[in-house]
Amino acid sequence: MKKKGILVVVSGFSGAGKGTLMKALLKEHGEQYALSISATTREPREGEEHGREYFFVSREEFEQMIEEDALIEYACYVGNYYGTPKSYVLEQMEAGRDVILEIEIQGALKVKERFPDTLLLFVTPPSAAELENRLRGRKTETDEVIRSRLERAVEEAEFMESYEYILVNDDLDTCVREMHELIQAQHLRTGKSREWIAKLKEELRHL
Ligand code: 5GP
Repeated sequence: MKKKGILVVVSGFSGAGKGTLMKALLKEHGEQYALSISATTREPREGEEHGREYFFVSREEFEQMIEEDALIEYACYVGNYYGTPKSYVLEQMEAGRDVILEIEIQGALKVKERFPDTLLLFVTPPSAAELENRLRGRKTETDEVIRSRLERAVEEAEFMESYEYILVNDDLDTCVREMHELIQAQHLRTGKSREWIAKLKEELRHL
């Protein structure tokens, strides 16, 4: 059975450690996974590069992508468009790689609707206090930004139950291992093997 890749959505609070987690996962299992790079109309932050963190595009370019059906999903988040380009994702899945999308909830639900085999993961620190510690520990954001991210976390927590698994990012290695195992287990779900089951049934009838 040729193994096709699946989609894995990873969402989580700002400060949950998603970036570090993704890097560690790809370092360990780089041949199995591909990270999708989104398009966005927001301005690049310092240190961000076009084609690495995001494809930074104009509103017109983004709307053109919508029109051409070049996005798997898109959402408006705090006044900017964010979307997942289709071609790279489909290409990687066809090549047997699981594609990781680091996107927010509206996009997550759209992807799940369009691709029911998608695995929805939510990453969180072990406690609210730890989330605040991590945000303050970065020392890159002002108090005001930290406050707004914590407020945003209150809203995002409302949607945690829409996800299939919650990954508590306490110990990084443990979290990477759990994530890898959950993705592997998703491949074994019966939904993923519909065609293969149909073929086996046919063969059984002919024995
Ligand atoms: P940021 O501006 O901090 O990089 O991202 C803001 C939010 O947009 C994050 O929650 C991030 O996961 C989400 N996001 C990034 N790319 C995409 C995308 O392609 N689609 C959707 N729906 N959300 C995205």
